[in-house]
Amino acid sequence: MKITIFKQDHSIKNEIITEQDLNNFKIPGLDTIYLNEREKEAFHLIQGIFILEKIIKYNQPFTKHNLKKNMQLEGETGQNKSKNTKVTIEMDYLKNENLGEFKMLLNDIFLFTELIDIDFNVRTNNKTPKQQESVKRNEINGTVCLFSGGVDSVAGIISESVKNNYPTIGLYISYNQIGGVIKKERELLSSWKIPNLKDIYTLKIKRGASSVQHVRGFVFTSLGILVASALGYKNLVISEIGPVMFQPIYNILDEVTITTHPYTLEMSKRIMAILIDSSVEIKTPFDEKTKAEIVHDLLKNSPGGRKETERLLLMTHSCRRSNFANANNEKRHCGYCLGCVIRHSAFILNGIEDENSKDYERDVWGIEKIENGGNNKYNSQIIKHTLDNLLPLLEFSRSILLMTGNNDHPIGYAKVKQFNREELFKRFSLEILSTLHKYYGEEGKGSNHLLKEFYEDMKKSGKIDVDILNNKLSEFSK
Ligand SMILES: [Zn+2]
Repeated sequence: MKITIFKQDHSIKNEIITEQDLNNFKIPGLDTIYLNEREKEAFHLIQGIFILEKIIKYNQPFTKHNLKKNMQLEGETGQNKSKNTKVTIEMDYLKNENLGEFKMLLNDIFLFTELIDIDFNVRTNNKTPKQQESVKRNEINGTVCLFSGGVDSVAGIISESVKNNYPTIGLYISYNQIGGVIKKERELLSSWKIPNLKDIYTLKIKRGASSVQHVRGFVFTSLGILVASALGYKNLVISEIGPVMFQPIYNILDEVTITTHPYTLEMSKRIMAILIDSSVEIKTPFDEKTKAEIVHDLLKNSPGGRKETERLLLMTHSCRRSNFANANNEKRHCGYCLGCVIRHSAFILNGIEDENSKDYERDVWGIEKIENGGNNKYNSQIIKHTLDNLLPLLEFSRSILLMTGNNDHPIGYAKVKQFNREELFKRFSLEILSTLHKYYGEEGKGSNHLLKEFYEDMKKSGKIDVDILNNKLSEFSK
């Protein structure tokens, strides 16, 4: 198979992304899993899409890209209709009858994730796989859990292994810098000897861009389906929490993650059904849960016991800046991206905070850091910038709890409603404000003056009942 890309304005000259010989091919990092011809082709296609995104992005003129993307997520479509990028894909085993749907799905993936309308020209040689290869594998009840090294995927793989009576494997798709974290977590998990947890595999793929790649959700999900299918397993588990899956925008310039958005999962499932006749089911067991809730469940029910489980949780990495995960980095998390802010809140609520707070480059929930002798104005700008995620999240949470009527909702809430996650986001909002209450209430140790102001203001308004916040806190101390 072969993927070629070119632009009508000739800014890219027929660049060949991938031209693969399927005869001498192994999945990098997963040599033990046998793939048939169609599965190999599917692997190349998914890898090719990851690289394609990079090439297209670097050649896109700068637009108010994020803004547009978020507007699309809010329900508006069709901002970018300039079809000046052409991509030719030549497949060997794609069936003629699936050409139309395949083309449409590829186009949808890029429209949804990058707001780029690509003209895909797909041809197929319509080859029939060798007979022994077209035989369907025996399907068994087994589960592949996508594993990212974050809190959610650690909780996911443990709860799946404990709950199910069949083999569970973790799949880490390696494209960033957190291999060291995965290794440590894998060692600790295997020392617990959890009955159905077979192993955590690492699948290496070629990195696309060094910046955020929005098609990665599609890439990870499709590769998860591929590995599950090659093992003959029926299930793929994506253990993302609801507030991330259905993440609304918290302010107008937000970068919303759509890695596990329901549309992303659906597109991956349909494309893999076409490419390899997959019938793997995608399960999202935490789509109604918050991070603080899964941490609480895990601390109570983990086969490793509370102390060891805390140790495991402290190893996790949910920071959206993966370069912080480097084992030699004393500060393992940035502390102010949305991933860090929510992880930190979940740990504070569950009483695993002290050791954890030290690991953040900036502990935005707790301590304001002003270097001695520095220019105060400059420092206050730095501090403001580090609150770019937390302050809008606090605003959002407060608005959710103060909502009175149907139309009285904050920006971004339409998405929450669209997917019927109102109750989930009420609990999540209450957790965020309870974390603030824990740090800035009477005995709190928080000293960030901007958070303190927000808290005092919230209390003065008299609209949010402190008892509700205290009740939330006591739920987690049980
Ligand atoms: Zn971070």
